[in-house]
Amino acid sequence: MARLSNADLLELNRRLDDHTPQDLLLWARDVFGSRLAGLSALQESGTVVCHMLHTLKIDIPVLFVDTGVNFQETLDTRERVRNEYGLNVVSLHPELTMAEQTAKYGVLYLTHEGQEQCCQMRKNDPLARTKGQYDAMIGSLRRAEGGRRDACQILSVDVPMNLVRINPLANMTDDQLHAYIKEHNVIVNPLHAQGFTTIGCNRCTTPVLPHEQKRAGRWRHLGSWAPQYCGINPSDRDPTKSPAIDLPPKLIDRIFGRETDFAI
Ligand code: SF4
Repeated sequence: MARLSNADLLELNRRLDDHTPQDLLLWARDVFGSRLAGLSALQESGTVVCHMLHTLKIDIPVLFVDTGVNFQETLDTRERVRNEYGLNVVSLHPELTMAEQTAKYGVLYLTHEGQEQCCQMRKNDPLARTKGQYDAMIGSLRRAEGGRRDACQILSVDVPMNLVRINPLANMTDDQLHAYIKEHNVIVNPLHAQGFTTIGCNRCTTPVLPHEQKRAGRWRHLGSWAPQYCGINPSDRDPTKSPAIDLPPKLIDRIFGRETDFAI
Protein backbone atom coordinates (compact mmCIF):
# COMPACT_ATOMS: atom_id res chain seq x y z
CA MET A 1 0.00 0.00 0.00
CA ALA A 2 1.04 3.64 -0.53
CA ARG A 3 -0.06 6.84 1.20
CA LEU A 4 -2.27 9.46 -0.45
CA SER A 5 -3.09 12.76 1.27
CA ASN A 6 -5.06 15.89 0.41
CA ALA A 7 -1.71 17.69 -0.03
CA ASP A 8 -0.77 15.13 -2.72
CA LEU A 9 -3.99 15.97 -4.56
CA LEU A 10 -3.50 19.78 -4.63
CA GLU A 11 -2.01 20.04 -8.12
CA LEU A 12 -4.35 17.45 -9.64
CA ASN A 13 -7.34 19.29 -8.12
CA ARG A 14 -6.17 22.50 -9.76
CA ARG A 15 -6.14 20.76 -13.14
CA LEU A 16 -9.46 19.01 -12.60
CA ASP A 17 -11.18 22.32 -11.85
CA ASP A 18 -11.11 23.09 -15.60
CA HIS A 19 -13.06 19.97 -16.52
CA THR A 20 -16.78 19.45 -16.80
CA PRO A 21 -18.61 17.23 -14.27
CA GLN A 22 -19.23 14.74 -17.08
CA ASP A 23 -15.49 14.57 -17.88
CA LEU A 24 -14.77 13.98 -14.21
CA LEU A 25 -17.34 11.19 -13.96
CA LEU A 26 -15.88 9.42 -17.01
CA TRP A 27 -12.38 9.85 -15.58
CA ALA A 28 -13.53 8.36 -12.26
CA ARG A 29 -15.09 5.39 -14.06
CA ASP A 30 -11.88 4.74 -16.01
CA VAL A 31 -9.60 5.09 -12.99
CA PHE A 32 -11.58 3.25 -10.34
CA GLY A 33 -13.69 0.80 -12.38
CA SER A 34 -15.78 -1.54 -10.26
CA ARG A 35 -14.31 -0.05 -7.06
CA LEU A 36 -16.35 3.14 -7.59
CA ALA A 37 -19.73 4.02 -6.05
CA GLY A 38 -21.98 7.06 -5.77
CA LEU A 39 -23.33 8.39 -2.49
CA SER A 40 -26.45 10.53 -2.49
CA ALA A 41 -29.02 11.87 -0.03
CA LEU A 42 -31.18 12.58 -3.10
CA GLN A 43 -31.19 16.34 -2.76
CA GLU A 44 -31.20 18.33 -6.01
CA SER A 45 -27.44 18.27 -6.59
CA GLY A 46 -27.49 14.51 -5.93
CA THR A 47 -30.17 13.86 -8.51
CA VAL A 48 -28.19 15.98 -11.01
CA VAL A 49 -25.24 13.60 -10.52
CA CYS A 50 -27.65 10.65 -10.87
CA HIS A 51 -28.93 12.14 -14.14
CA MET A 52 -25.36 12.48 -15.42
CA LEU A 53 -24.55 8.86 -14.47
CA HIS A 54 -27.68 7.81 -16.34
CA THR A 55 -26.92 9.78 -19.51
CA LEU A 56 -23.25 8.71 -19.51
CA LYS A 57 -24.31 5.08 -18.91
CA ILE A 58 -21.94 4.78 -15.94
CA ASP A 59 -23.15 1.66 -14.21
CA ILE A 60 -22.15 1.99 -10.56
CA PRO A 61 -24.11 1.48 -7.33
CA VAL A 62 -25.49 4.68 -5.80
CA LEU A 63 -25.55 4.38 -2.02
CA PHE A 64 -28.39 6.01 -0.10
CA VAL A 65 -28.40 6.01 3.71
CA ASP A 66 -31.98 5.19 4.69
CA THR A 67 -32.06 6.35 8.30
CA GLY A 68 -35.61 5.05 8.76
CA VAL A 69 -36.75 8.64 9.36
CA ASN A 70 -36.35 10.12 5.90
CA PHE A 71 -39.15 12.20 4.45
CA GLN A 72 -41.57 10.27 2.25
CA GLU A 73 -40.72 12.74 -0.55
CA THR A 74 -37.09 11.59 -0.37
CA LEU A 75 -38.08 7.92 -0.53
CA ASP A 76 -40.34 8.71 -3.50
CA THR A 77 -37.38 10.46 -5.18
CA ARG A 78 -35.28 7.31 -4.62
CA GLU A 79 -37.92 5.24 -6.42
CA ARG A 80 -38.10 7.69 -9.32
CA VAL A 81 -34.31 7.67 -9.73
CA ARG A 82 -34.35 3.87 -9.76
CA ASN A 83 -37.21 3.58 -12.21
CA GLU A 84 -36.58 6.52 -14.56
CA TYR A 85 -32.76 6.58 -14.57
CA GLY A 86 -32.34 2.81 -14.18
CA LEU A 87 -29.72 3.28 -11.46
CA ASN A 88 -28.87 0.65 -8.88
CA VAL A 89 -29.73 2.68 -5.76
CA VAL A 90 -28.54 0.66 -2.76
CA SER A 91 -30.16 1.59 0.55
CA LEU A 92 -27.98 1.30 3.65
CA HIS A 93 -29.78 0.81 6.96
CA PRO A 94 -28.95 1.36 10.65
CA GLU A 95 -28.84 -1.73 12.88
CA LEU A 96 -31.78 -0.53 15.00
CA THR A 97 -35.10 0.90 13.87
CA MET A 98 -35.81 4.37 15.26
CA ALA A 99 -38.36 2.78 17.64
CA GLU A 100 -35.77 0.25 18.90
CA GLN A 101 -33.14 2.97 19.26
CA THR A 102 -35.55 5.21 21.20
CA ALA A 103 -36.52 2.34 23.51
CA LYS A 104 -32.84 1.66 24.21
CA TYR A 105 -31.33 5.19 24.36
CA GLY A 106 -34.26 7.63 24.54
CA VAL A 107 -34.91 10.46 22.06
CA LEU A 108 -31.30 11.20 21.18
CA TYR A 109 -31.69 13.97 18.63
CA LEU A 110 -32.99 16.44 21.24
CA THR A 111 -29.52 17.13 22.67
CA HIS A 112 -26.19 18.02 21.09
CA GLU A 113 -24.43 14.88 22.34
CA GLY A 114 -27.43 12.71 21.53
CA GLN A 115 -27.57 14.07 17.99
CA GLU A 116 -23.94 13.08 17.42
CA GLN A 117 -24.66 9.58 18.68
CA CYS A 118 -27.84 9.32 16.61
CA CYS A 119 -26.12 10.53 13.38
CA GLN A 120 -23.28 8.12 14.08
CA MET A 121 -25.61 5.13 14.45
CA ARG A 122 -28.13 6.04 11.74
CA LYS A 123 -25.90 7.68 9.09
CA ASN A 124 -22.19 7.13 9.57
CA ASP A 125 -22.18 3.52 10.80
CA PRO A 126 -24.29 2.16 7.90
CA LEU A 127 -21.88 3.81 5.44
CA ALA A 128 -18.85 2.64 7.43
CA ARG A 129 -20.03 -0.97 7.02
CA THR A 130 -19.26 -0.65 3.28
CA LYS A 131 -15.58 0.11 4.06
CA GLY A 132 -13.28 -2.00 1.92
CA GLN A 133 -15.75 -2.37 -0.96
CA TYR A 134 -14.77 0.84 -2.76
CA ASP A 135 -11.67 2.94 -3.49
CA ALA A 136 -13.65 6.02 -4.48
CA MET A 137 -17.08 7.50 -3.85
CA ILE A 138 -18.83 10.16 -5.92
CA GLY A 139 -20.74 12.83 -4.02
CA SER A 140 -22.46 16.07 -4.97
CA LEU A 141 -21.02 18.73 -2.64
CA ARG A 142 -20.66 22.22 -4.13
CA ARG A 143 -18.69 25.25 -2.97
CA ALA A 144 -21.80 27.34 -3.61
CA GLU A 145 -23.43 25.63 -0.60
CA GLY A 146 -21.18 27.83 1.56
CA GLY A 147 -20.21 27.05 5.16
CA ARG A 148 -17.63 24.28 5.47
CA ARG A 149 -18.24 23.40 1.81
CA ASP A 150 -16.85 26.76 0.72
CA ALA A 151 -13.49 25.23 -0.12
CA CYS A 152 -14.67 21.77 -1.11
CA GLN A 153 -12.23 20.16 -3.57
CA ILE A 154 -13.08 17.84 -6.45
CA LEU A 155 -10.87 15.13 -4.93
CA SER A 156 -10.23 14.60 -1.23
CA VAL A 157 -9.23 11.68 0.95
CA ASP A 158 -11.72 10.12 3.36
CA VAL A 159 -9.53 8.67 6.07
CA PRO A 160 -12.14 6.69 8.08
CA MET A 161 -13.43 5.06 4.88
CA ASN A 162 -9.93 4.83 3.31
CA LEU A 163 -11.13 6.03 -0.07
CA VAL A 164 -11.11 9.03 -2.39
CA ARG A 165 -14.15 11.31 -2.36
CA ILE A 166 -14.99 12.81 -5.74
CA ASN A 167 -17.25 15.84 -5.98
CA PRO A 168 -17.67 16.55 -9.72
CA LEU A 169 -20.04 19.47 -9.06
CA ALA A 170 -17.65 21.22 -6.66
CA ASN A 171 -17.37 24.39 -8.76
CA MET A 172 -20.96 24.44 -10.08
CA THR A 173 -22.88 27.57 -9.11
CA ASP A 174 -26.54 27.63 -8.02
CA ASP A 175 -27.49 29.20 -11.37
CA GLN A 176 -25.62 26.51 -13.32
CA LEU A 177 -27.23 23.76 -11.23
CA HIS A 178 -30.73 25.10 -11.77
CA ALA A 179 -30.08 25.67 -15.48
CA TYR A 180 -29.00 22.01 -15.81
CA ILE A 181 -32.10 20.84 -13.92
CA LYS A 182 -34.35 22.90 -16.16
CA GLU A 183 -32.64 21.95 -19.42
CA HIS A 184 -32.72 18.22 -18.66
CA ASN A 185 -35.93 18.12 -16.64
CA VAL A 186 -34.01 16.41 -13.81
CA ILE A 187 -35.94 14.63 -11.06
CA VAL A 188 -35.99 16.98 -8.04
CA ASN A 189 -36.99 16.12 -4.48
CA PRO A 190 -40.31 18.03 -4.10
CA LEU A 191 -39.26 19.30 -0.66
CA HIS A 192 -37.02 21.88 -2.36
CA ALA A 193 -40.16 23.59 -3.70
CA GLN A 194 -41.48 23.74 -0.11
CA GLY A 195 -38.58 25.85 1.19
CA PHE A 196 -36.12 23.10 2.13
CA THR A 197 -32.68 24.22 0.91
CA THR A 198 -31.07 21.04 2.29
CA ILE A 199 -32.80 17.77 3.15
CA GLY A 200 -31.97 15.28 5.89
CA CYS A 201 -34.06 13.28 8.38
CA ASN A 202 -37.64 14.35 9.04
CA ARG A 203 -36.86 14.74 12.78
CA CYS A 204 -34.08 17.28 12.24
CA THR A 205 -34.80 19.27 9.06
CA THR A 206 -37.07 22.26 8.46
CA PRO A 207 -37.56 24.68 5.57
CA VAL A 208 -35.60 27.95 5.75
CA LEU A 209 -36.66 31.56 5.34
CA PRO A 210 -35.32 33.53 2.34
CA HIS A 211 -32.83 35.51 4.46
CA GLU A 212 -31.46 32.47 6.32
CA GLN A 213 -28.31 30.49 5.52
CA LYS A 214 -28.85 27.36 3.45
CA ARG A 215 -28.20 24.96 6.33
CA ALA A 216 -30.23 26.90 8.90
CA GLY A 217 -32.94 24.24 8.66
CA ARG A 218 -30.66 21.45 9.92
CA TRP A 219 -31.00 20.63 13.66
CA ARG A 220 -32.76 23.97 14.19
CA HIS A 221 -34.24 22.65 17.44
CA LEU A 222 -30.73 22.53 18.97
CA GLY A 223 -30.45 26.32 18.69
CA SER A 224 -26.96 27.74 18.93
CA TRP A 225 -25.66 24.21 19.53
CA ALA A 226 -26.84 23.09 16.12
CA PRO A 227 -23.98 21.21 14.45
CA GLN A 228 -25.16 21.83 10.84
CA TYR A 229 -23.24 18.74 9.63
CA CYS A 230 -23.56 15.03 10.48
CA GLY A 231 -19.96 14.17 9.50
CA ILE A 232 -20.82 11.76 6.67
CA ASN A 233 -18.78 13.94 4.27
CA PRO A 234 -15.09 14.27 5.14
CA SER A 235 -14.81 17.90 4.00
CA ASP A 236 -17.37 18.78 6.67
CA ARG A 237 -15.03 17.47 9.37
CA ASP A 238 -12.06 19.23 10.88
CA PRO A 239 -9.63 19.39 7.92
CA THR A 240 -6.62 19.16 10.24
CA LYS A 241 -7.75 15.64 11.18
CA SER A 242 -7.68 14.32 7.63
CA PRO A 243 -4.12 13.22 6.89
CA ALA A 244 -3.86 10.30 4.42
CA ILE A 245 -5.35 7.04 3.17
CA ASP A 246 -3.68 3.83 1.95
CA LEU A 247 -4.23 2.67 -1.62
CA PRO A 248 -2.42 0.25 -3.94
CA PRO A 249 0.52 2.10 -5.60
CA LYS A 250 -0.75 1.18 -9.07
CA LEU A 251 -4.11 2.79 -8.33
CA ILE A 252 -2.40 5.99 -7.12
CA ASP A 253 -0.43 5.99 -10.41
CA ARG A 254 -3.72 5.75 -12.28
CA ILE A 255 -5.21 8.67 -10.30
CA PHE A 256 -2.27 10.88 -11.30
CA GLY A 257 -2.16 9.52 -14.85
CA ARG A 258 1.38 8.21 -14.47
CA GLU A 259 2.37 5.72 -17.16
CA THR A 260 -1.25 5.02 -18.00
CA ASP A 261 -3.86 6.04 -20.55
CA PHE A 262 -6.05 7.61 -17.89
CA ALA A 263 -4.49 11.09 -17.69
CA ILE A 264 -7.04 13.90 -17.77
S1 SF4 B 1 -30.38 13.87 11.43
FE1 SF4 B 1 -31.48 13.66 13.41
S2 SF4 B 1 -32.73 11.77 13.27
FE2 SF4 B 1 -31.26 11.80 11.55
S3 SF4 B 1 -29.58 10.56 12.27
FE3 SF4 B 1 -29.03 12.70 12.76
S4 SF4 B 1 -29.83 13.12 14.83
FE4 SF4 B 1 -30.76 11.19 14.11
